[in-house]
Amino acid sequence: MTRLAILGSTGSIGTQALDVVSAHPDMFEVEVLTAHSNYELLIEQARKYKPNAIVVTDERSYKLVKEALLLLPIKVFYGEDALVEVVKWDTVDTVVAAIVGFAGLSSTMAAVKAGKRVALANKETLVVAGELVMRAAIESRASIIPVDSEHSAIFQCLVGENMDKIEKIILTASGGPFLGRKPNYLVNVKASHALQHPNWTMGAKITIDSATLMNKGLEMIEAKWLFGLKNEQIDVVIHPQSIIHSMVQFVDGSIKAQMGLPDMKLPIQYAIAFPQRIDNTYKRLDFKEFSKLTFEEPDYKTFKNLALAKTAMFKGGNMPCVMNAANELVVHSFLQNRISFIEMSDAIEDAMNKVGYIEHPTMEDYIESDKEARIYAAEIVKQSQLSSH
Ligand code: NAD
Ligand code: MG
Repeated sequence: MTRLAILGSTGSIGTQALDVVSAHPDMFEVEVLTAHSNYELLIEQARKYKPNAIVVTDERSYKLVKEALLLLPIKVFYGEDALVEVVKWDTVDTVVAAIVGFAGLSSTMAAVKAGKRVALANKETLVVAGELVMRAAIESRASIIPVDSEHSAIFQCLVGENMDKIEKIILTASGGPFLGRKPNYLVNVKASHALQHPNWTMGAKITIDSATLMNKGLEMIEAKWLFGLKNEQIDVVIHPQSIIHSMVQFVDGSIKAQMGLPDMKLPIQYAIAFPQRIDNTYKRLDFKEFSKLTFEEPDYKTFKNLALAKTAMFKGGNMPCVMNAANELVVHSFLQNRISFIEMSDAIEDAMNKVGYIEHPTMEDYIESDKEARIYAAEIVKQSQLSSH
């Protein structure tokens, strides 16, 4: 029996992780659930999965959850400090890190330091502080198994291989809803349009990141740390069908790919069951329905965020952290129609130019850089035509 702490249980990844648990009650048990403000769903999940404890990070929601669960033997805690504590419990075997954004860093890091198995969905953790997180994992002997579909694909391709025989990895990207579009089209796109991803249903933040290609940029940096790669070993190719989830090319030129229908339950179940491969009844890929798998070069000029992420990766230090923070802020603003699609890149670039570069940041430096970057990005949002109306 694997006892799980699911951080961000009300989100897209969190709810799908619970679906996997429901399908395999003989293998998985829920010890901890956590969420921010979706108290209604959290209460429902608590009644169904009967965890030992719950953490709520939004204060008003905390009070509502506590009241609703008063008569049940479930501990209800409040705040980020509680998040950091529960992941260390002896009764937790595996932590599913599925909080979105920088907000997931402290709890993921705590789980890593406690030597837990971490099923990692929260890519921002590695983008911001990958070097510190991976070093902590070596020291504590924590294992980090990726949930992100591309990284799960690479992880699966690497089973049985030597890491020093990797020539490069090839991350596939769907291209998002605006594939093939040019800036003259993108200036006018609204959040409602950008939220319509062709192949995946995900949380709002990552869906916007997929439309701007920032998601692939974040994933390049995530891959660098997860697999200990050099910047030059990371390639991106647009593959609109999202059937090949990513590939590894070895020193002999041989390429391994992992394929399947786009369904996050697969990488989630792989991460929490590893090293076992367990059965399921999800729809199978039928090649006759996908007679054409196509590939093309990403358009770095139009989708500037991907170029910015690449720059941040090569600069290293606190640059990915700065880029990530500015991106989180502008995505949030874009969702509220306070900045345009194109202006998001301007704000990120501005923050990257203005926040002081730190080559070897500490955790405190990252926290500081994150704050600073948000201030610069917020300035650009304020100057946007959309904000002034
Ligand atoms: P989501 O927005 O659907 O869910 C986010 C979860 O985090 C919710 O449970 C929410 O309550 C919690 N949360 C939000 N803000 C918080 C805060 N300040 N403190 C504590 N908890 C907070 O997001 P998602 O799409 O499930 O994505 C989660 C993570 O997984 C992201 O890092 C994303 O990049 C990654 N990921 C998601 C997918 C996907 O298919 N959704 C795929 C690959 C990677
Ligand atoms: Mg992905």
